[in-house]
Amino acid sequence: MSDAGSDRPGGHTRLAAVIGAPVRHSLSPAIHNAAFRALDLDWVYLAFEVAPGDAPAALAGMRALGLGGLSVTMPHKDAVAAVVDRLGDDARLLGAVNCVTPVDGDLVGDNTDGPGFLRALAADTGFDPTGRRCAVVGAGGAARAVVLALARAGAAEVVVVNRTPARGERAAALAGPVGRIGRADDVADAELVVNATPLGMRPDHDELPVDVELLRTGQVVADLVYRPFETPLLAAARARGLIATNGLGMLVHQAALAFERWTSRTAPLEVMEAAVRRRLG
Ligand code: NAP
Repeated sequence: MSDAGSDRPGGHTRLAAVIGAPVRHSLSPAIHNAAFRALDLDWVYLAFEVAPGDAPAALAGMRALGLGGLSVTMPHKDAVAAVVDRLGDDARLLGAVNCVTPVDGDLVGDNTDGPGFLRALAADTGFDPTGRRCAVVGAGGAARAVVLALARAGAAEVVVVNRTPARGERAAALAGPVGRIGRADDVADAELVVNATPLGMRPDHDELPVDVELLRTGQVVADLVYRPFETPLLAAARARGLIATNGLGMLVHQAALAFERWTSRTAPLEVMEAAVRRRLG
């Protein structure tokens, strides 16, 4: 460790944090602290359990204490969107913030999930959504971010397949004219199939989010689940010769985008991914 490093944390150390409830399982401290160490930045990242309803107080605390960055996870993403000074485009359309950055005295709320998904998809599979037919299974917060990102990236069609149709309609509307609500068998016509439900996190209990008999050669399957790394959906897709990728890349890239907003430094992606693999491996 350098001489400067031996004084850390100290009076000049900057603080970033994640708020959520529950939050103790969060991988964000491991990811960001590994990145700060790798770039020799005098920053630390902590996790704060913030009770539902207390997000405005947490944001006031961020402002008063001068935090350098804040990640936001469930159940606070919508509440934080309502109290920041400014919103990025994605956060405004989604009504949900996962990253807050202090800029010229303002707290700016962004949502890096969708751009993080697109970067991971490109890096892991080479898939470019431009002009392609995409199906998203699920219509929760993660699905909504992915639907918006795919439409922004120029997808020809974004079909949302969801257990609760009304919620699916609201998610599909985020894709504007290329969005529509679909049925389970719409997956067969898609070039990209995304699982944005939690199905697969309990491999011994969960049903598959998609009828794998509908999958065909040439499709790309992206599962947002990363615990376990290999879900039954991904295993079935690979067994059919499809390109398949899990949610690890999205997790790392959405964190990297936040890191870059806070520090103005290029995120060390490999270090961040290794930190996740160490925790989950
Ligand atoms: P969420 O807001 O709770 O939404 C869950 C969605 O899954 C809803 O559309 C829900 O349908 C559907 N669903 C849940 N259980 C189902 C079941 N048994 N059968 C059919 N549909 C079911 O959750 P979220 O925050 O969007 O997260 C979804 C998944 O993405 C989670 O596994 C999460 O870990 C993962 N995720 C990954 C990343 C990453 O960085 N890789 C980021 C965020 C989330 P209804 O509308 O009918 O309730």
